[in-house]
Amino acid sequence: MPVKNRLAELHEEITAWRRDLHAHPELLYETHRTSAFVAEQLKAFGCDEVVTGIGRTGVVGVIRGRKDTQGRVIGLRADMDALPIVEETGLPYASQNPGAMHACGHDGHTAMLLGAAKYIAETRNFDGTAVVIFQPAEEGGAGGKAMCDDGVMERFGIQEVYGMHNWPGIEVGTFAIRPGPFFASADHFQIELEGKGGHAAKPHETIDTTLMASHLVVALQSIVSRNANPVEQIVVSITSFETSSTAFNVIPQKVVLKGTIRTLKPELRDLGEKRLKEITEGTSATFGGQAKVKYYRNYPVMVNWAEQTDFAAAVAASVAGECREAPLIMGGEDFSFMLEERPGAYILVGNGDTAMVHHAEYNFSDEAIPAGCSWWAEIVEQRMPVG
Ligand SMILES: [Zn+2]
Ligand SMILES: [Zn+2]
Repeated sequence: MPVKNRLAELHEEITAWRRDLHAHPELLYETHRTSAFVAEQLKAFGCDEVVTGIGRTGVVGVIRGRKDTQGRVIGLRADMDALPIVEETGLPYASQNPGAMHACGHDGHTAMLLGAAKYIAETRNFDGTAVVIFQPAEEGGAGGKAMCDDGVMERFGIQEVYGMHNWPGIEVGTFAIRPGPFFASADHFQIELEGKGGHAAKPHETIDTTLMASHLVVALQSIVSRNANPVEQIVVSITSFETSSTAFNVIPQKVVLKGTIRTLKPELRDLGEKRLKEITEGTSATFGGQAKVKYYRNYPVMVNWAEQTDFAAAVAASVAGECREAPLIMGGEDFSFMLEERPGAYILVGNGDTAMVHHAEYNFSDEAIPAGCSWWAEIVEQRMPVG
């Protein structure tokens, strides 16, 4: 069963939506234009219900099947937000909103789920209810959590939920998935080190925070190399090292370090946080300084449910001929919150040989649209078959 004919027919229209969304990227919860466009389209498709304002700027469409004999309800989720990146693609439909860019392909996700919704609303060839979920703020704002906190699962009676992300390096029109932990937890932290500033020529009269922080940066790498089991995955990255003085002859009073910890195992996540605090305290004490750690638990590990993953893979194989095993990804994904609330699965659709997501030259591949839309439609039709 290859790509659906009707969706192949809609390819041009969906591509036009995608490029329009690409030209008008919006950040985090500020997806006002995008949400309005999505809601307007869903109404035009004849969805039975269109609800806005769930999780601030999230939009939900309800499409009832030709039959409803068993009360089945499946949620399909796409993300709508862009990234604070200056676009360097040179495309004719490049961002018209300077400093914002659809560099993660959420323009493609939104357009593909809209395309599937149009098809599903036209054909209604299923026994149950399909709920299309468009969420804001996937890129660090936990929009998926905001929609869950607003009761999206309970309110629409969603029993299972499915998500999709395009992925560069996977052939266009093909799919990849894996059961269990898939995307990493993505926490971040800020460490404030305080010493005693002074003249750079009189170090003995200071407590040197630069030296302290340098030792700390190195010591924190022992979480990965000495605390975590080497067969498991954890990343500790210091991404910012800022001194309170930029002069060449002053030992700064303060240093602020920032960074992120990512892992695929909840126990390792706890270990990482605990060791970060212990090592920071120990190192600052060694040099006679003081430390304050702020640790922010962001997206949890995204765990695909076994049975739904098998089903999603079988659907992908029915569209594309096969479905490959996806690699583990140390990026975070806030679909994890939805998968904590309901069984479901998250799949990758190939974006071909393009720049990686979050790169200024990345672009979503419109050739992926027929396969992506077909997967959504087949999830609904195969999970809730009519008699
Ligand atoms: Zn992203
Ligand atoms: Zn993304």
